[in-house]
Amino acid sequence: MDSAEWCLSMPKIELHAHLNGSIRDSTVLELTKALGERGVINFSDVEHVILKYNRSLTEVFKLFDLIHILTTDHNTVTRITREVVEDFAAENVVYLELRTTPKRNNSIGMSKRSYVEAVVKGLKSVTSVDVDFIPPSEDSKSLFNPLPPSVTHDKCNGHVRKKIFVRLLLSIDRRETTEAAMETVKLALEMRQFGVVGIDLSGNPITGEWTTYLPALKFAREQGLYVTLHCGEVPNSKEIHNMLDFHPQRIGHACFFEDEHWRKLKSSKIPVEICLTSNVRTMTVRSIDVHHFVDLYNAKHPLVLCTDDSGVFSTCLSKEYKIAADSFGLGRREMFELSRKAVEYIFADNKVKDDLRKIFNSMAKNMEV
Ligand code: 5GP
Repeated sequence: MDSAEWCLSMPKIELHAHLNGSIRDSTVLELTKALGERGVINFSDVEHVILKYNRSLTEVFKLFDLIHILTTDHNTVTRITREVVEDFAAENVVYLELRTTPKRNNSIGMSKRSYVEAVVKGLKSVTSVDVDFIPPSEDSKSLFNPLPPSVTHDKCNGHVRKKIFVRLLLSIDRRETTEAAMETVKLALEMRQFGVVGIDLSGNPITGEWTTYLPALKFAREQGLYVTLHCGEVPNSKEIHNMLDFHPQRIGHACFFEDEHWRKLKSSKIPVEICLTSNVRTMTVRSIDVHHFVDLYNAKHPLVLCTDDSGVFSTCLSKEYKIAADSFGLGRREMFELSRKAVEYIFADNKVKDDLRKIFNSMAKNMEV
């Protein structure tokens, strides 16, 4: 088995994946053409935005604006959720924490709540793999029927079926107001019974002030939701300090950290979601060989490899592990251990953690690591 196949077959944990960034290229093109035919957009005007390979961070956010025009209706949200879960499961991701920004679109009767319900419907509509997304302790009878027991079993008709755990994070976009952020947190609390476990702060990092979201983030934490923050995607020393002082359960990226930030981060032990391809493609790190992964890894700081936006950056989690192996000289056992350690940083409950530990233990024997 070559190293690409090995990275593919290894069990993996994905903790930083944006729903609309993980959309398949083929789906983006199909939706764009369909809207072009209906005269909603002019395909030739947007073609270059979609097909461009190397995008700056600013261009990435332009692409998201276009993707949101394409995807923000209930059926499409359901469809892309299903596809994204299927794609991660196909490459042996055994636990996926999928994040998305609840969106309101009055013209089509979409509220933040109905957007999240469309996501949940997407989780429920996956048939190619068993999806575990409803926490067992929750009463899930009010909105959707729970999955029938046969769907949650590992064996179906004598065949072993793949199973993926999925939990949701609701994102606050840095363009939003304090009230809108608070609405997202309240929605997350209401949707806990459908696997919402936390809150993410994302969106264009040059937009908005951190203090705008602080009341909502504090409220989220008080109510028992987990919090992860996009942190240090642009040079903003004060914000990085303040975010670390808030002590979120995880942070994403950590690209523009200075010595004092590293010191604070390392003593805090806050796990870092590392997105290698995303960082290189958006030029938030100069090149892969100077990526902060190496320093954090050598310091044994908690970290997890993630995709960020597998569709937008044409990557997948197996590729990210292969890049780490090739660029930083990690062997198979080290990659496996890196993946296994991520179990400790997930936001789901201890029962899920135990189940995942068992999966990794049994795969460790099979894969002889
Ligand atoms: P969605 O939340 O619509 O499912 O996923 C796309 C959104 O995630 C983008 O509009 C943006 O707010 C956020 N996002 C995706 N990738 C990045 C990233 O690399 N950095 C930041 N700050 N936000 C991102």
